[in-house]
Amino acid sequence: MSDDTEPAETTHAFDADGSECEACGATVERRWRQDGDLVCPDCKRWTVTG
Ligand SMILES: [Zn+2]
Repeated sequence: MSDDTEPAETTHAFDADGSECEACGATVERRWRQDGDLVCPDCKRWTVTG
Protein backbone atom coordinates (compact mmCIF):
# COMPACT_ATOMS: atom_id res chain seq x y z
CA MET A 1 0.00 0.00 0.00
CA SER A 2 1.40 3.35 -0.99
CA ASP A 3 1.06 6.41 1.20
CA ASP A 4 3.56 8.78 -0.30
CA THR A 5 2.19 12.16 0.65
CA GLU A 6 5.70 13.62 0.55
CA PRO A 7 7.95 13.95 -2.49
CA ALA A 8 10.90 11.60 -2.76
CA GLU A 9 13.36 14.48 -2.55
CA THR A 10 12.85 16.71 0.45
CA THR A 11 13.28 20.42 -0.08
CA HIS A 12 13.63 21.29 3.57
CA ALA A 13 14.88 19.80 6.79
CA PHE A 14 13.62 20.26 10.32
CA ASP A 15 15.74 19.89 13.45
CA ALA A 16 14.05 20.52 16.79
CA ASP A 17 17.41 21.21 18.43
CA GLY A 18 18.49 23.50 15.62
CA SER A 19 21.20 23.09 13.03
CA GLU A 20 23.73 25.37 11.41
CA CYS A 21 22.94 27.11 8.18
CA GLU A 22 25.65 26.02 5.75
CA ALA A 23 25.78 29.52 4.25
CA CYS A 24 25.84 31.95 7.20
CA GLY A 25 26.25 29.65 10.20
CA ALA A 26 23.07 30.73 11.93
CA THR A 27 21.38 28.11 14.08
CA VAL A 28 17.88 27.50 12.87
CA GLU A 29 15.28 24.80 13.31
CA ARG A 30 14.22 24.72 9.70
CA ARG A 31 16.50 24.78 6.71
CA TRP A 32 15.93 24.63 3.00
CA ARG A 33 17.94 22.78 0.40
CA GLN A 34 19.71 25.04 -2.06
CA ASP A 35 22.38 23.87 -4.47
CA GLY A 36 22.99 20.83 -2.28
CA ASP A 37 23.34 22.83 0.94
CA LEU A 38 20.89 23.27 3.78
CA VAL A 39 20.43 26.98 4.42
CA CYS A 40 18.29 29.17 6.66
CA PRO A 41 15.31 31.12 5.31
CA ASP A 42 17.43 34.28 5.13
CA CYS A 43 19.91 32.60 2.80
CA LYS A 44 17.37 30.72 0.77
CA ARG A 45 16.78 32.34 -2.57
CA TRP A 46 13.08 32.12 -2.95
CA THR A 47 11.87 31.72 -6.46
CA VAL A 48 9.18 34.25 -7.08
CA THR A 49 7.10 33.81 -10.16
CA GLY A 50 4.39 36.07 -11.45
ZN1 LIG B 1 21.84 31.42 6.53
